[in-house]
Amino acid sequence: MNIDSKILSGLDLSKIIYSQLSKRIEVLKSQSIIPSLAVILVGDNSASKIYVNNKTKRFTQLGLNSSTVNFSIDVTEQELINKISELNNEDTCHGILVQLPLPKHINSEKILLSIDPEKDVDGFHPFNLGKLASGNPTFIPCTPKGIMRFFEHYAIDISGKHVVVVGRSNIVGRPISILTSLKNKYSNATTTICHSGTSDIYHYTKMADVVILALGSPNFLKSDHIKDGSIIIDVGINRIKNNDNGYDLVGDADYESVIDKVSAITPVPGGVGPMTIAMLVENTIEASERLL
Ligand code: NDP
Repeated sequence: MNIDSKILSGLDLSKIIYSQLSKRIEVLKSQSIIPSLAVILVGDNSASKIYVNNKTKRFTQLGLNSSTVNFSIDVTEQELINKISELNNEDTCHGILVQLPLPKHINSEKILLSIDPEKDVDGFHPFNLGKLASGNPTFIPCTPKGIMRFFEHYAIDISGKHVVVVGRSNIVGRPISILTSLKNKYSNATTTICHSGTSDIYHYTKMADVVILALGSPNFLKSDHIKDGSIIIDVGINRIKNNDNGYDLVGDADYESVIDKVSAITPVPGGVGPMTIAMLVENTIEASERLL
């Protein structure tokens, strides 16, 4: 594989993407269209609040609109569906995002199904997931889309390589396993997907050219679990207590353990996270461009 940098920086790459997107934003603004995102946030989960703040802050920095609709933890499904239906019909709202996870009494699938697929900038609606699975994607979920951009930008040709994905969520694991195996440029890999039902995950990671970790288990992958020169895309974000009574963010890979053995790795923080936000901005711009 052909890589010019060992640390795949999502901070650097997202800056390049924002500068490319600024031209598209100008075109939209010249037609009086300001890309606008509505975020639905239920309850006061602190991690969800941080994620939503990071997203909305970026929209504001770029001169785009982002509004958050807050609901209390005891909101009903119908109340959420009513709000989404209102946003579906609002011409000045181009993208709708429901921050997950939702409380247990809410059927997330039912809520996601109520979003107009043309405003589904997270790409979680079954219509958009189905298009992705059939190899003809429309809105691609932001985290997997951001991962594919690493391969493109850093000229990592995964065609014919063995990609091992750990995690099978609809948000990350499953869509990235589909994307890496599509018959496209920068894809065309042989992909194995592992999960909690896999009897020996390390058996697969040791064979992998590329390991994509999306399980949410701190320091799960160590140097003994990979082969020399492999590439690690670390999606995991785990908060672990540090000695100063605070928290550190760590990934699913044990960075110190693997760093000398890999040919490239995404750091945590500063790797996949910033790319997820950049892809949300891009998807919202794409949704707005339908109006041109
Ligand atoms: P989910 O909890 O929805 O899915 C986790 C997946 O990993 C499941 O398929 C689960 O298996 C599997 N899994 C969990 N523990 C193990 C284990 N010990 N061994 C094998 N498989 C395991 O998580 P998400 O996909 O939403 O997120 C995964 C991680 O990525 C989290 O740390 C999250 O914070 C982070 N994340 C980061 C983003 C970013 O922008 N950087 C964006 C989204 C998520 P099973 O299906 O059997 O339960």
